[in-house]
Amino acid sequence: MELIDIGVNLTNKRLRFDIDQIVQQSLEQQVTTLVVTGTSLQHSELAIDLCHLYPEQLISTAGVHPHDAKEWNEDSEQKLLTLLDEDCVRAVGECGLDFNRDFSPRDQQVAVFQQQLEIAVNSKKPVFLHQRDAFDTFHALLREYRHRLPNVVVHCFTDSKTALYQLLDLDCHIGITGWICDERRGLELQAMVKDIPSNRLMLETDAPYLLPRDLPNKPKNNVNLPRYLPHILNAVARHQHKKPHQLAAEVLSTTRKFFRLS
Ligand SMILES: [Zn+2]
Repeated sequence: MELIDIGVNLTNKRLRFDIDQIVQQSLEQQVTTLVVTGTSLQHSELAIDLCHLYPEQLISTAGVHPHDAKEWNEDSEQKLLTLLDEDCVRAVGECGLDFNRDFSPRDQQVAVFQQQLEIAVNSKKPVFLHQRDAFDTFHALLREYRHRLPNVVVHCFTDSKTALYQLLDLDCHIGITGWICDERRGLELQAMVKDIPSNRLMLETDAPYLLPRDLPNKPKNNVNLPRYLPHILNAVARHQHKKPHQLAAEVLSTTRKFFRLS
């Protein structure tokens, strides 16, 4: 069995001092590749540095999270294009809209999201998207761009069944996190995960966030790690009535195609 964690915030201050150990412990759990999430230009640069240190285990995304949209200026596009030239950078993102926290003004979030979709179209890279409490605006923009984008993943999907079908209709991939392991908030997701075809399904921890609530021997510091990805695989397999090994093989093939891994 082999797994790829498509969302690891390895440059986060809670993780970045233990990279060696995190990568090693992931490998021991058959999590062979980690996709390091680039959440700002600075963190995307750090992500690339990590990829250079661990070229066998790490690839990354590069982009500006909606929380950081307020930092975007006239130099940002050129800086992002330079980062996207790196071979280890396999997607534009994470970018999108977050109207839950509103850390950046909404009109600026929309403008910066749109600019990164343009960049993805021109650089022919897939996009790694974040959406929270902004589905209608997000969906309208995505629908406008979808036919020009090579591939799309909506990471950490936690929305309604209607939203899921609207995204699948746009031929998006769906990233599932340990949210599905939550016995309260995850019920809706548990019921609908079987509707996601395995050629559109990918798995992620979103570490250090979203430690699965039902993880046995949960760490006291509450820090999620990519080595817990098999726990999420097992939960998805259970709700899809599939054997974990079978699901792992299907998702691996989907993920390799998406990130153009051989
Ligand atoms: Zn996100």
